[in-house]
Amino acid sequence: MTTTHCPYCALQCAMHLERGPDGALAARPADFPTNRGGLCRKGWTSAQVLTAADRLTTPLLRKDRTAGFEEVDWDTALEYAADRVRALQAAHGRDAVAVFGSGGLTNEKSYQLGKFARVALGTSQIDYNGRFCMSSAAAAGNRAFGLDRGLPFPVTDLADADVVVLAGANPAETMPPLMGHLSGARLVVVDPRRSGTAREALRRGGLHLAPRPGTDLALALGLLHAARAEGLLDDAYITERTTGFDAAWRHAAAWWPERTEHVTGVPAHRIREAARLLGTARRAYVLTGRGVEQHAKGTDTASAWINLALALGLPGRVGSGYGCLTGQGNGQGGREHGQKADQLPGYRRIDDPAARAHVAAVWGVDPDDLPGPGRSAFELLDALGSAGGPRALLLFGSNPAVSAPDATRMRDRLAALDLLVVADFVLSETAALADVVLPVAQWAEESGTMTNLEGRVLRRRRAAAPPPGVRTDLEVLHGLAVRLGQDPERFPTDPDAVLAELRAASAGGAADYSGVTPQRLEDGEALHWPVPEGGQPTPRLFLDRFAHPDGRARFAPVEHRPPAEDTDADYPLLATTGRLMGHYQSGAQTRRVGELADAEPEVYVEVHPDTAARCGLAGGDRAAVESRRGTTVARVRLRPDARLDTVFLPFHYPGEQAANNLTNPALDPTSRMPEFKVSAVRLRPYADRRGGGDR
Ligand code: SF4
Repeated sequence: MTTTHCPYCALQCAMHLERGPDGALAARPADFPTNRGGLCRKGWTSAQVLTAADRLTTPLLRKDRTAGFEEVDWDTALEYAADRVRALQAAHGRDAVAVFGSGGLTNEKSYQLGKFARVALGTSQIDYNGRFCMSSAAAAGNRAFGLDRGLPFPVTDLADADVVVLAGANPAETMPPLMGHLSGARLVVVDPRRSGTAREALRRGGLHLAPRPGTDLALALGLLHAARAEGLLDDAYITERTTGFDAAWRHAAAWWPERTEHVTGVPAHRIREAARLLGTARRAYVLTGRGVEQHAKGTDTASAWINLALALGLPGRVGSGYGCLTGQGNGQGGREHGQKADQLPGYRRIDDPAARAHVAAVWGVDPDDLPGPGRSAFELLDALGSAGGPRALLLFGSNPAVSAPDATRMRDRLAALDLLVVADFVLSETAALADVVLPVAQWAEESGTMTNLEGRVLRRRRAAAPPPGVRTDLEVLHGLAVRLGQDPERFPTDPDAVLAELRAASAGGAADYSGVTPQRLEDGEALHWPVPEGGQPTPRLFLDRFAHPDGRARFAPVEHRPPAEDTDADYPLLATTGRLMGHYQSGAQTRRVGELADAEPEVYVEVHPDTAARCGLAGGDRAAVESRRGTTVARVRLRPDARLDTVFLPFHYPGEQAANNLTNPALDPTSRMPEFKVSAVRLRPYADRRGGGDR
């Protein structure tokens, strides 16, 4: 039996993996502070992904995209990829080759991928899919507190809360064991749809505020206005621990509840009720999720919720606070160790000369040779194969043909490349477009560390050997680096050797892992970063001071603005997207688990019955959901509790079922996160190629 952690979300529930009588590994829950002996259905079934029927065990290569793949040996695949990389860089420059990573990769892989890009390839063109998930709250957290750690307190602290605001988060469906920590709290759920979490809030006497998609910034301003009008602000805290309240208030002052109701659709009396509930609680938290972040104004929206928390004196106090519920398994660690376009390990900025000098010394290179910041994730993907853009892409742990916004355009960009190399365990929708596919090990077949939503570094242990023919991502990076002329010692394949280097590279940085040793991890120490060498971990941040030089948190003067694309006569509805309990991200893993696939086999669109009727649709019909960018064919589910102006689609499905065929790649100016949560759409009955509707 091996005790390890779930392959999916950032709660990183602990589990035991054990072989059953049939010889296959099966998961059962282990006791751990984040999951306290619970798992969701994804975790329970996670071991089945290891034996997926279409698991790749041989590298695939095609020299002609019109031809099928050929199975080749590893030397042939890696030599071909390295030769093409060399040729493209010789012809078009270093930045002709790009790298794309994932918030699902271990800290060691994230680190090694960043080093591989900057040292072996010398390219600035690296980013990762975490840019689509957490970057707005990260930017807002850095702006407000001087530091970004999703939850700056242990998740177990939530158990003592009286009131918790969940803005744009649906943990009842996306990370159910988290709800166990909230069982003593009244919940205020902010979500355009009546999600499972919203239903749970109402069941417990809490509130569900359902703003029009794209107006949650206005709602946060309205709540701040109501809280001040009710005399609930913590003036002493604002004076002693913050700066910038007056400038922030100048914006909120115009958002009295009736005006906020007019813009958001949330009744004014509910806004006042929510403000009173939150402002009079002894212990309260404001937690945000992707619903707040995935907007062209996501950073400002996250800032507006932080402003509310600061005005009530919540952050930096035991028993209260603000936090962001990170989504991907290593969404936190993935943004700390260098696979982001603007970062170096230890959460260092790549444009900081001192940071460059420190990391260059660890890597044994000249700081001047480190490339500068490159394009952000969507901008990188959108430039693929275009004039001046990358001609080749090396992709690890991601499936942008399904998960990137405006997915049809993304598939065109991937197809325009001269070289696409994908490391994956199956032929994902993106791998199917590649020239070279490298079969790699899965979560339970290799060891490494992950950093969960509370900034706690965890040991993910190897429970089984990978199938014959399969290599780890670290072995792939080693193989490519050596063929690109690097010293083999520079790219070790042992995760602990990489961790040792990561520790040195992160030492002294904001996310200091220098004290994270294999022994401390094995001993089960709760290693919340920063963990300096020989020092203690930091479960709770900001208790004495925030991380800005003056020790104070900063209010941000933010203002509501409309979504990048609003409704009009042609596209009269708004579509928003999200996750299901039984699926994860692009579904590349969970769609291969029979029980999960059978439970939710196809995409659906949630529609209010009156809206459906106006579009000529009934429950169970297939609808064509159309935006200016593309069409998603989805089964209609009628929801009488839905907003009349809003439809919802889960985003785990490929091809014509991909919700991201609809989504808008308008970017937040700070975080560069796309506006996944608001697209103007219309619905009509779907007629298949044979003509006629399909019911
Ligand atoms: Fe836990 Fe998340 Fe895995 Fe579910 S998906 S078992 S909530 S880590």
